[in-house]
Amino acid sequence: MPVNLHAALAYAQENQPRFLSELIEFVSIPSVSTDPAAKPAMQQAAEWVAGQLQRLGMDNVQVMPTEKHPVVYGEFLEAGVDKPVVLIYGHYDVQPAEPLELWHSPAFAPEQRGDNLYGRGASDMKGQVMAALKACESLAQTGDLPVNLKWLIEGEEEIGSPSLGKFIAEHKELLACDFAINPDTGMIALDAPTITYGLRGLAYFELRLTGPAQDLHSGLFGGSVHNPAVVLCELIAGMHDEQGRVTLPGFYDRVRPMAEAERQELRRLPNNDALYLEQTGAPRL
Ligand SMILES: [Zn+2]
Repeated sequence: MPVNLHAALAYAQENQPRFLSELIEFVSIPSVSTDPAAKPAMQQAAEWVAGQLQRLGMDNVQVMPTEKHPVVYGEFLEAGVDKPVVLIYGHYDVQPAEPLELWHSPAFAPEQRGDNLYGRGASDMKGQVMAALKACESLAQTGDLPVNLKWLIEGEEEIGSPSLGKFIAEHKELLACDFAINPDTGMIALDAPTITYGLRGLAYFELRLTGPAQDLHSGLFGGSVHNPAVVLCELIAGMHDEQGRVTLPGFYDRVRPMAEAERQELRRLPNNDALYLEQTGAPRL
């Protein structure tokens, strides 16, 4: 049966209450990857995801151990060899819930208030994992899945994914795919379904600057010997120019220029300067 988007959407709407109650179940598992005491909850969350994949009809579903938290895998390769393989990435771990006193309802007893569900991980990213699972369920229940699928749901995203690089290297064949989707993002506005196709990277360093052999008296040596704290400030301040552009040599070498069509698309988005000012409380951008 070919894909029937109408039927799939109708299925999703009909089953929304069940989808929500399953999300609540998922968010109730305190899978905090930084917390050694949460090890059983981490395992429980991994198995919960594996159960979802099984019920979705995925094959070869496995909870695969790593040095720290397991990776959940599952696949559907029945769409045909002529169809692409799409890998869906996600994570079942969440940030710690502290400080607890700032929660209006318990972090791991999700509460619905208005249209929102409040609980740790509801938005980052058990909600998105569920959205991907339930989108696939809605398609699979109303037609044939149009592409092959692989799922890679890890448990270490919130601690920098220390095991993932090695895991991917060791399972190249298993994870081979044509596309990878990472729904660990957001929607730009409630009425603007959003596909994020570029993410900002992150690099951080510890820099040690050595100066004089001992503390120096500013009255005796100030002006003659450069203060390391001042040198650090100069280094950091010098990383951007007055326009906010990064000054590090080579930084922009591999950045592709933006196509005009892309600029036009971006211009249609609802995020503008006024919104940034409103959201941040900054006096100016
Ligand atoms: Zn995330």
